[in-house]
Amino acid sequence: MESTLRGETGEAPKIRLRDVSKTYVPSRGGAPSLAVSDISLDVRPGEFLCIVGPSGSGKSTIMNMIAGLTDPSGGLIEIDGRPVAGPGRDRGVVFQDYALFPWKTVRENIEFGPRYRTESALPATERNRIVDHYIRLVGLAGAENKYPHELSGGMRQRCAFARALANEPAVLLMDEPFAALDAQTRLVLQEELLRIWGENLPRGERRTVVFITHGIDEAVFLADRVVVLDNHPGTIRTILDIDLPRPRTQQVRKLPRFQQLADDIWSLVRAAAYAATLEAAAGQ
Ligand code: ADP
Repeated sequence: MESTLRGETGEAPKIRLRDVSKTYVPSRGGAPSLAVSDISLDVRPGEFLCIVGPSGSGKSTIMNMIAGLTDPSGGLIEIDGRPVAGPGRDRGVVFQDYALFPWKTVRENIEFGPRYRTESALPATERNRIVDHYIRLVGLAGAENKYPHELSGGMRQRCAFARALANEPAVLLMDEPFAALDAQTRLVLQEELLRIWGENLPRGERRTVVFITHGIDEAVFLADRVVVLDNHPGTIRTILDIDLPRPRTQQVRKLPRFQQLADDIWSLVRAAAYAATLEAAAGQ
């Protein structure tokens, strides 16, 4: 029993998925569809884990189940050894579409977490200290009183990071957070995210990040490991170690090893997408 509770490195996993599956049952009748199946995965404490796979391979479904936004149909998901039973402040979630309150300023959006912590309403001084810290950390000092519509896409996403971080979650769940941004902003925010994650800190002090992306280069740049999904239903095809040096800057993209890893992942994703296309054609 003990050995199955451990991650591959011998330490207890931060997030543990065992034989997880999800079947969506249409509310208006029709056949249920198996979206993901047999997902077993340990995310190590302080790890940056990326999930890639063709569209429809279940990336968002897996993320939503870890976030507690949707229940698995089978299997087990644990954070720190405790089953996930709904959303929790231990997990900060950042989606592609910012999810900011348009009627609140940057500061008020970021404050939302600390202000509304139910079990321990924070004194105003402490709340302000936390909010100031995260405004500075994400580079939004000077923009605190702007409203979301006054910000660029990159700044809105910085604000969404800060709002998630202000709850000081041990786990950060990010579902294609950079997908809507232009290429240059994306590169800048990738580096910033590694800094915010704690790339320069000892591993024990880093947050645990699960990051979904369509971008294979993005996954290689950011991750400690990359999970590649197959589709129909979504299953884990393979998990690759990204053995590139840290801290990483854009220079790392010039290493032959970077290109090799990106090529390997691309071949796997392409094979999964191609197999799905053939399956769909055969089913017609
Ligand atoms: P990805 O994020 O990799 O694109 P998703 O997790 O969004 O994949 O979807 C996986 C599969 O589950 C797809 O076939 C999708 O159509 C289906 N699916 C996702 N969400 C729902 C839902 N709420 N109801 C029914 N089917 C869904």
